[in-house]
Amino acid sequence: MTHYYFITDTLTGDLLDVVPFCSDGCHYWYCHENGLEYQGWNGCHEHPYTDECRECGTLIQGVEEAVAC
Ligand SMILES: [Zn+2]
Repeated sequence: MTHYYFITDTLTGDLLDVVPFCSDGCHYWYCHENGLEYQGWNGCHEHPYTDECRECGTLIQGVEEAVAC
């Protein structure tokens, strides 16, 4: 399951974008290396389409593409 870092508007708190990761460890290190505040464990998301972990490049299988037709 996918882990997310949430990018939010600092004034309104609106969710602007999500950064996907393959694991909580990648989420943590991405934040550490980019000077971002680690927001805590944020996993178990179903990513809709196949994507790459922004930290290590591991492919994240999209749930909608995982269903065989
Ligand atoms: Zn990763």
